[in-house]
Amino acid sequence: MAKAIEQLLVLQACDQEIRRLRKETDDIPLRKQQIESRLAAHKDGQAQAEHALLEAKAQIKRLEGEIDAARQQIQKFRDQQLQIKSNDGYKALEKEIATAQGAIRGLEDQELAAMETVETAKEAVAGRQSSLASEQVRVDEELKTFAERNAGLGEELKRKEDERRQLAAEIDPTWLARYERLFAKQRDAAIALVEHGTCGSCHMKLSPSQVVEARKPDTLTLCDFCGRMLYFAP
Ligand SMILES: [Zn+2]
Repeated sequence: MAKAIEQLLVLQACDQEIRRLRKETDDIPLRKQQIESRLAAHKDGQAQAEHALLEAKAQIKRLEGEIDAARQQIQKFRDQQLQIKSNDGYKALEKEIATAQGAIRGLEDQELAAMETVETAKEAVAGRQSSLASEQVRVDEELKTFAERNAGLGEELKRKEDERRQLAAEIDPTWLARYERLFAKQRDAAIALVEHGTCGSCHMKLSPSQVVEARKPDTLTLCDFCGRMLYFAP
C-alpha cells in the first residue's frame, strides 16, 4: 500500500470524526428544542385540566344560582297564595309551584353530575401535576447532560482539528488535495478498499486493468464508478 494512502486513511478517520462532531454540534439546537417542546406539551396538558376544573366549578355555581332563583320564585307564589281569594287562582299558583319544584329537582340532578365532574377534574389535575413534576426533573437532567456534552464537544472538536492539521502537514500535497476534494463530495469516505476485484464502497466490479493500477504503490487510481481512491489491504 502506498505510504500516502496509509496516511490518508488515518487522516480520513480523523475527518470522519470531525464530521461527526460537527453534525452533533449542529444538531444541538434542534434536540434542545425537542426536549423543551416535550415539557411545553406537559404544561399545556396541565393548563387544560385546570381549565376543565374551573369550568365544572363555575357550572355548579351557575346551577346553584338557578336553584336559588327557583326557590325564591316558589316563596313568591306562596306569598301570593296567602292573599288570593279565589280557589282557581290558588290552584293556578299551586301548579306554578309544582312546576318550579320539578325544575329544581332537574337542576339538583345536574348539580350532582357537575360535582362528579369536579371530582374527576380534580383527579386529572393532580395526575397532570405529578406527571409534569417528574417530566420537569427529567428535562432538567437532560438539559444539564446536554450542556455538559455541548461544552465537551467544542474541546473535542478543537483537539481533532489540531490532530488533523498535524496529519495533513505530513502528506504529499497532490494526494492530499485530491483526497480533500473527494472527501468533501462523499458522505462517508473518499478511499475505498478493493475486495475481490470490486470497489469496497460502491461494490461495483472493477476492470482488471483498474485492479492492476490500484495495486501499484505510487499511482493514484480512482474507482470508475464512484470516483473514490482505491487501495489494497497490505
Ligand atoms: Zn466505487
